[in-house]
Amino acid sequence: MRAAVFDSTTATPGAWPSIEEIPRPEPRPGEVLIKVRACGVCRTDLHIVERDLKPLEPRIIPGHQIVGEVVEGATATLPAGTRVGVSWIGGVDGDCWFCRHGMENLCDHPVFTGYSVNGGYAEFAAVRADFANPLPAGLEPIHAAPLLCAGVIGFRSLRVAGVERGERVGLYGFGSSASLAIRILHAWDCQVYVVTRGEQHRKVAESLGAAWVGDEDAKPPVELDRAITFAPAGKVVVAALAALRKGGVVAINAIHLDQMPAFDYDRLLWGERQLRSVANMTRQDARDFLTLARDLNFRPAVATFSLDDANRALEAVKHETAEGSAVIML
Ligand SMILES: [Zn+2]
Ligand SMILES: [Zn+2]
Repeated sequence: MRAAVFDSTTATPGAWPSIEEIPRPEPRPGEVLIKVRACGVCRTDLHIVERDLKPLEPRIIPGHQIVGEVVEGATATLPAGTRVGVSWIGGVDGDCWFCRHGMENLCDHPVFTGYSVNGGYAEFAAVRADFANPLPAGLEPIHAAPLLCAGVIGFRSLRVAGVERGERVGLYGFGSSASLAIRILHAWDCQVYVVTRGEQHRKVAESLGAAWVGDEDAKPPVELDRAITFAPAGKVVVAALAALRKGGVVAINAIHLDQMPAFDYDRLLWGERQLRSVANMTRQDARDFLTLARDLNFRPAVATFSLDDANRALEAVKHETAEGSAVIML
């Protein structure tokens, strides 16, 4: 099969993975072989091929937003031809404290698709059957692939924040994840208050029906039940806290945050307000989000690339030149 293979010992900038003819993987017990139809290109892929993330294997096929069809290793729940989506968490150990307590997103020994095991920049991928999430009927590979990473984690953020129907929810920062979140929140009859820098982002938030939109220094005109922060800035988290009612929750959707400024506990956190970070995702998050994506007819804007152009796709992500999410189509 053809695959884009990243060799951490020889790769150079702009020629990160090389397109190679390699043996088709044999699914091991518990795995299915999928024929890849689409694979989204995530910024994390760039961190892998630029070695910002330490290589775990000398040679690896990147890609962790995979949509494909089961062609080998079919099971009763995954019959041949089933369309599945595979994301960053490609497996967990199932027996660490976190897995045993329903928190597989925090597993001590996770498998990372396209980083610790081969991913989807290839014609075929062998993946753990129990981490191959069936795609709901009606959701096309090209629309599903770019939703499988940031989209699912954005959805998890709403869960971590504990959003309930009809609540007032703040979104701090308004990129692609937040633009999906607002549509889910509207489906839940929530009023959405958006705080974001950038005139363009504010216009998009208004066009998507935000109840109120303000710039980064503005404070929503009401107390919020929940807030989700997407900007990687500690001061934004404090601003969100300052808008929260007693007992409310701020969920931080960021892997890295710059320094968290000192803030006034008595005024901002006391009253059982909570600050929570959001890490990874569970299979249930992915499955529930994919169903919502189908029901709400999510069709993210995409820029498509062939497998041969995997490096061009990575360049587009690096320089943010693609109009929409980069997706490799096979
Ligand atoms: Zn990702
Ligand atoms: Zn575990």
